Amino acid sequence: MKHVITLNELRDALDSLPRPLGFVPTMGYLHEGHMSLVRRAAEESASVVASIYANPTQFAPDEDLDTYPRDIPRDKAMLKEAGVDVVWIPTTEIMYPEGYQTWVTVEVVTQPLEGARRPTHFRGVSTVVAKLFNAVRPDKAFFGQKDAQQAVVVKRMTQDLSYPIEIVVCPIEREEDGLAMSSRNTYLNEEEHQAALSLSQGLKLAQTAFQSGERDADALRQIVIDRVNAEELTDLQYVSCAHPSTLEELEGDVETCLISMAVFVGQTRLIDNIVL
Ligand code: AMP
Repeated sequence: MKHVITLNELRDALDSLPRPLGFVPTMGYLHEGHMSLVRRAAEESASVVASIYANPTQFAPDEDLDTYPRDIPRDKAMLKEAGVDVVWIPTTEIMYPEGYQTWVTVEVVTQPLEGARRPTHFRGVSTVVAKLFNAVRPDKAFFGQKDAQQAVVVKRMTQDLSYPIEIVVCPIEREEDGLAMSSRNTYLNEEEHQAALSLSQGLKLAQTAFQSGERDADALRQIVIDRVNAEELTDLQYVSCAHPSTLEELEGDVETCLISMAVFVGQTRLIDNIVL
């Protein structure tokens, strides 16, 4: 596996890679969720490039960029073991050189849910993903359903900017106890981890209700709200029942929906979702 930093090193490394080329962008501190994307990329592509970059422009000033967990040697060992051909670990000087002032904004699907609570987040995401796509020029790029709105935003941007890239969205990987894997789970102590199980448990309860015929959006949202609020250590930010591709909030009976949520458990903000 080649480790490249600069755009020139990346270009040289890409020259010799057989196509189709699969690309997995990450912010590092890798776990099984990331590795499921890498494995899927390896199955579906002749070569795989991964990137590790905790993109500062998608973090608000009061968010956790400075404390975001990092372990590049461990990440590299995991990617190498999984058969990744090139890992690109750019610096912020490379991604946002002095005087940087160009942004990609996706206008509508960025407004609700995470976008409403993190107003500058998706501008950072779409900009960095566009820059990564321009540099790597993959045939396919792999994203996780864990960040459901991000996947919708990236698909929209890819279509709108005519990138010849197929976006593949991979299912959420969970711990055995149901907690959706996340680099941020490392912030949780044992008590908080237990309280955090209410997210996936709430979603499971909503799924069971849906399977038994419950179709009312309010009722489905309320099932999740009640389960999360039953825990003392949780502070619910939102529960949404929205259209899975337009992300419009739904009322009344639903045929299909994305139930998504953000919850503070102690200081840690967690997200989770399910498509019914
Ligand atoms: P991150 O490093 O958090 O930016 O995540 C990099 C990619 O991995 C994104 O496309 C995420 O949606 C995906 N990802 C993160 N956690 C999971 C998970 N538990 N299951 C599946 N994909 C995930």
